Amino acid sequence: MVVVMKADATDADINGVCAVIEEHGLEPLLMPGNVMAIGIPSEVPTDLREPLQQKLQILPGVSKVTQVSRPFKLASREFHSQDTIVRAGGVEIGGERFVVMAGPCSIESYEQLKSAAEIVKANGATVLRGGAFKPRTSPYSFQGLAIEGLRIMQQVGKEVGITTVSEVMSPDMVETVAEHVDILQIGARSMQNFPLLIEAGKSGKPTLLKRGMWAPIDDFLLAAEYLLAHGNPNVMLCERGVTPLDKSYTRNTLDLAAIPVLKEHSHLPVIVDPSHGTGVAKYVKSMSLAALAAGADGLMVEVHPDPRTALSDAAQALPPDSFAEMMSALREMSAVTGRSMTMGARSSRI
Ligand code: PEP
Ligand code: MN
Repeated sequence: MVVVMKADATDADINGVCAVIEEHGLEPLLMPGNVMAIGIPSEVPTDLREPLQQKLQILPGVSKVTQVSRPFKLASREFHSQDTIVRAGGVEIGGERFVVMAGPCSIESYEQLKSAAEIVKANGATVLRGGAFKPRTSPYSFQGLAIEGLRIMQQVGKEVGITTVSEVMSPDMVETVAEHVDILQIGARSMQNFPLLIEAGKSGKPTLLKRGMWAPIDDFLLAAEYLLAHGNPNVMLCERGVTPLDKSYTRNTLDLAAIPVLKEHSHLPVIVDPSHGTGVAKYVKSMSLAALAAGADGLMVEVHPDPRTALSDAAQALPPDSFAEMMSALREMSAVTGRSMTMGARSSRI
């Protein structure tokens, strides 16, 4: 339920609404905007809905009272009409600029990550990605460098001067990963790891939540709701493809329609991962351009200094020249989509 106040509502009017909500054993949430709105994020018991709505409707300063029609609330535009901008390590995600997060699937060594960081930064990416804890289908595949990988990420981030993002797979590692990087990544396979969502929520750290490959939009936004409900407003959504009908051509089906759907129903920034979304390096550029055209706030792309030697996801990693070409095409297109792109350290508007 959301109580929208009149533009001239006084503090006393707002307090009056909060008091009535509290009298019913519910917790009000103040949502300042063009006009003040007061939300009730928790489930309002069915038998209480009508009487409470009627009581609130006639209070001084109240413009209207609406029932939130979606199962997710804090993630919903009905609760928070303006776009959320997440600030992480000097980068704004969800604002005017189209943000590119790029780097290898896995952190393999200091040299590999440093080289990747220099390549992605030189071509205009503002966030460096790289996994230290890798969720691999087979226990015999490379599992990542763990803490050592995080240390490398932290060092390279500082040396190159770039914001960093890395995956956290378990609740007990949230604190450690948060100490080493600017943005936590919650992977597709962990989208419904509720203890992990709760811990990342409590951390307040900017968090990129990937959509499960099997997840309907409501479940995805309810996973984001966990982070928000546990006190973390710095949530970004990442569409990374859903299970395809046919795996012989692409690894996943990138759900481009999810971009306008998520932008309509949620205020959270939407990032698109065309690397996992296709699994094929040569399709990454076209899907990136499509994501920009469809209104995404940014991309997460896998780039490797030498994809032939990559220890994970080699088939979808862009080599440096392809990444440069893709970034230049994105810059050209950003001019006609009304977005801007940061170029290296110069921060020029293209
Ligand atoms: C990754 O980003 O390397 C990754 C494992 O992604 P996802 O969780 O989307 O599969
Ligand atoms: Mn990967």
